[in-house]
Amino acid sequence: MLIATTLLFYRLSDALQVEGHVALFWPLNAVLVGLFSRYSFFNRPYYYTVSLLSLLAWDSVFAINSPGAVLVNISNICFVLVLVNCILREGPATAETVKLNVLRLYSYCLFSALLCSVPGSYGFALSGSASFRDVYPVWFSEEFSTSVLILPFLLTWTGTLTFGGFELKKVIPLITLILSLTLSGVSGGIGSLSMTLPALIWCAISYSLPTTCLLTMLTGTAEVLMVDAHWMYSSLTGHITQIFSARMGIASIAISPVMVAVSVQAINTLVKQLSARANYDYLTRVHSRYGLYEQLKAQDHKAVNTPLNVMLLDIDHFKNINDTHGHDCGDNVLSAFASRVQEVVGEQGIVARMGGEEFAVVMPDASGRKGYRLAEAIREEIEQMELTWGSDTLTLTVSIGLSHGEAARRGIVDSFDRLLSEADHFLYQSKKTGRNRTSAAPSVMDKHLAHSAS
Ligand code: GH3
Ligand code: MG
Ligand code: MG
Repeated sequence: MLIATTLLFYRLSDALQVEGHVALFWPLNAVLVGLFSRYSFFNRPYYYTVSLLSLLAWDSVFAINSPGAVLVNISNICFVLVLVNCILREGPATAETVKLNVLRLYSYCLFSALLCSVPGSYGFALSGSASFRDVYPVWFSEEFSTSVLILPFLLTWTGTLTFGGFELKKVIPLITLILSLTLSGVSGGIGSLSMTLPALIWCAISYSLPTTCLLTMLTGTAEVLMVDAHWMYSSLTGHITQIFSARMGIASIAISPVMVAVSVQAINTLVKQLSARANYDYLTRVHSRYGLYEQLKAQDHKAVNTPLNVMLLDIDHFKNINDTHGHDCGDNVLSAFASRVQEVVGEQGIVARMGGEEFAVVMPDASGRKGYRLAEAIREEIEQMELTWGSDTLTLTVSIGLSHGEAARRGIVDSFDRLLSEADHFLYQSKKTGRNRTSAAPSVMDKHLAHSAS
């Protein structure tokens, strides 16, 4: 695979080169850097030698074996070696965990290109068609700009393109990019290179990081080829400054969209982490009060007059556990209690910690009788639960208040609030009548009793 990739891109790069001139676009090196960084087991002397030998073998088949040509090949593989080792210092860049520090990547490209263009330019100059001073800036700027354009894509690509259905709004940034690239090609001139920048930034905030890197690579490559085509026809000599400046300009412009896309990705990850923290209770891992409301709101559109059970659970004499065994023990009990309740409820409802040692269970789409049965199942399970703390065995009981009603269409949150205060009233009744019991409206309990009797 390595030999095939090396030779394929060698041929492609060679085909883009004008005979006797320094290559204007030479993707081989950047592609090898991407390959060696993504599959870091390649990063061994053996595989660098395989790549180098395949280049030399190819050249000797076509009788290009001057000392200059050998030095050029060595310089190309040196560039791969230096840049791959700089990138791998950042940690493995696998598809799942790409930690792309854009500025550092760009500095590595700059450093490797500055260094490894020396033997390459020297080797090329040996063939006698141009002096080292003329070759070096063109060589360096090509090596730097090509790697800067191609590498972010190769390092972030996850191998999949996801199209979530066609939407005009989604493709407008892409259309704008194509239009601005066309305009830049048609108008020419100094400013033309930066004409695509606003559209690229728009793509960066609209699409994923790999897609932005792909678009930046394609746009930058098209610009490089346009610049090169322009100067090629009017002969390279005497235009080194313009080529150098255009290439460096394109490479610098390519930094911005990738940086924006990396920042957007970081912000999105952070938002996800923060909402996970807000939605779940840190100690007990069940929903927080806020998370419960978010869940209910998410169900709002589905709730067309659905029956709803709301339970309020309060651990009995919990303060005694804290007082006797300490706060750490209390925390462990809360956590064990919540997991046991969650196990009993399963997929039938949502468990949330409302505060302190008070929990709520919301059970939609179920009759009051089913609600009462679940409440009793929870109560009995907790009554039988045994917890060990040091040499002590602890047991718990819980008091439950249950309310049942219909959630009005598009008003599940309001219905929940109403049922919650009703459940609070029943919870108070459970506490007052001796704890370790479930209280509910007589209709619900009667039905249950009738059912149990039958
Ligand atoms: P009752 O049967 O009437 O509910 O009695 P209780 O002791 O359970 O109720 P009370 O409201 O008097 O006490 C609740 C205690 O829960 C007081 C508080 O210190 C404790 N508590 C609240 N949150 C936490 C927590 O996160 N960790 C621990 N360890 N204790 C907590
Ligand atoms: Mg309480
Ligand atoms: Mg209590």
